[in-house]
Amino acid sequence: MCGIYGYVGKNDAYQEVLKGLSRLQYRGYDSSGIAYFNDGFKIKKAIGTLDNLPQSVNCTPNIAFGHTRWATNGEVNIDNTHPHISYNKEFVLVHNGIIKNADIIKEDLIKKGISFYSHTDTEVIVNLLACLSGKIENRLEKLYKLLDGSFSLIIGYKSGDIYIMKKFSPLNILKADDGIYISSDVSSLKDGFLYSLNDNDLIMITKNDVIALANTKIDFKMHVNKIKEFSLGRFKNYMLKEIFETPKGIEKTYNYLQKQNVRKIFKHFNEFTLIGCGTAYHSCLIGEEYLIKIPKYKVKCCLASNYRVLKKIKRNHLHIIVSQSGETADCIKVAEQIKNFNGKILLITNEETSTMAQIADYKIITRAGKELAVASTKTYCAQVFVFIYISQLLLNKKFTINIKKFINDLEEYINKINVKSLVNKLKEKDKLILIGKDIDYALLLEASLKIREIDYIYTIPMYSGELKHGTLSLIDKDSVIISLNTSSDKSKLDVVKNEIKSRGGEVIAIDEMVDLSIISERFRPIFAIIPFQLMSYYIALKKGFNPDMPRNLAKSVTVE
Ligand code: GLU
Repeated sequence: MCGIYGYVGKNDAYQEVLKGLSRLQYRGYDSSGIAYFNDGFKIKKAIGTLDNLPQSVNCTPNIAFGHTRWATNGEVNIDNTHPHISYNKEFVLVHNGIIKNADIIKEDLIKKGISFYSHTDTEVIVNLLACLSGKIENRLEKLYKLLDGSFSLIIGYKSGDIYIMKKFSPLNILKADDGIYISSDVSSLKDGFLYSLNDNDLIMITKNDVIALANTKIDFKMHVNKIKEFSLGRFKNYMLKEIFETPKGIEKTYNYLQKQNVRKIFKHFNEFTLIGCGTAYHSCLIGEEYLIKIPKYKVKCCLASNYRVLKKIKRNHLHIIVSQSGETADCIKVAEQIKNFNGKILLITNEETSTMAQIADYKIITRAGKELAVASTKTYCAQVFVFIYISQLLLNKKFTINIKKFINDLEEYINKINVKSLVNKLKEKDKLILIGKDIDYALLLEASLKIREIDYIYTIPMYSGELKHGTLSLIDKDSVIISLNTSSDKSKLDVVKNEIKSRGGEVIAIDEMVDLSIISERFRPIFAIIPFQLMSYYIALKKGFNPDMPRNLAKSVTVE
């Protein structure tokens, strides 16, 4: 979700920022802009993709910073696009996040005679800063205190100096041979010495130096990850590529887990709260299904956006937070509450260097490889695999698996899935009911989410037994109902299927389209979700939607 990228150095800064922003595109955005310094800050903005920005400017600036915006305050238009400039042209800035008290501050500033050209909370920040008095350092410290909400900011002063600061939103600085790079996303930075800012840090970047202000302690560490330039290879879209990368991701995750002492993490805990959002929450629900069956352990599952820590956390209680990006604002908020109560956190994430990874007490890294498509696929499967692994350990069993055979079976299985006729049938539908029981219901929540986010179809996932308690009234001869039964009891859904058929509805059983019997029941959720992922992907293509970048959505949701 949204991105910030900046550069000060000997290269063409405009080009560096364009390149940097392009590496942040996968996060989702609706408009973009760049400020570059050439005898004062000049600004270029565009709606839509980065291709709509000028690809060069008629100078070679050494200072520039830019933004990919994911609108939270104010519609998508040029006025609202960042960078934003103060009424007196003293400051230019880009902002990730949301300022909660922007309306109150704005009212005050309007009373003082300041006028606004945009509807963003960001323009409020830049004008507030311009109205504060004192030395710049003090003005920025005051600004930090006056803003309520989340922000990472690159602020350009009229002299060409740059200031950066953040609160609840990630920001990193990297010292490389050819200059200083700033980014909200570590994975977009190349080799050099990295420092991930803490809340309340204030850093000034001049043409020659990085200066820590206001008690900031910069601790640069060597950053060894080379930027991977991602390519689609033989695939048309990242989502499809990533579905096919699931087996590799699980193999790598397994090899990683084998080298960790996962059992040790759980030694002192017997109560677990599993927390996530969206797809990660759905993997928590699968985790709950496994863990709840193990005697001695208490487990519950919660949505991060709806979770509050209200009382003292017991010493035997472990919070397990799942976040693909490790940057999910709702999860970070929960993690901070848990830490305030001295609770312990195990993070399951795909991003080792993320903000959450720095907060958590314990980490398990899914090695699914970078996921670029907004809809999570391979990372969900890797998260589910981790939960299966944990549950085996807690059962005091050794995790026995012939990983080579498992991976081969999964690869063959994915290659054989054919969803063509299903896609043709479903592409015209504007709503869908999905039914299943037990763990299959948890899987259908994820399947439904895929169909909603990529295909824009209203979906109703239901416990099959609940259909007759109300929703059956929706069924008629035009209804298509998708069912899932991963258990070995083939007749499990027969009663409800007959109830649907008696009212003219059609039931399509996904488990009859694929062969789940090739794999033991324990691993079936990983196999069973894949036809749904492929189905949602191909429906999106048929409907002419971009499956990698669904409308209104962003990859990592860094706002609450
Ligand atoms: N709240 C700001 C806006 O709506 C920033 C959004 C973002 O993080 O991209 O412009």
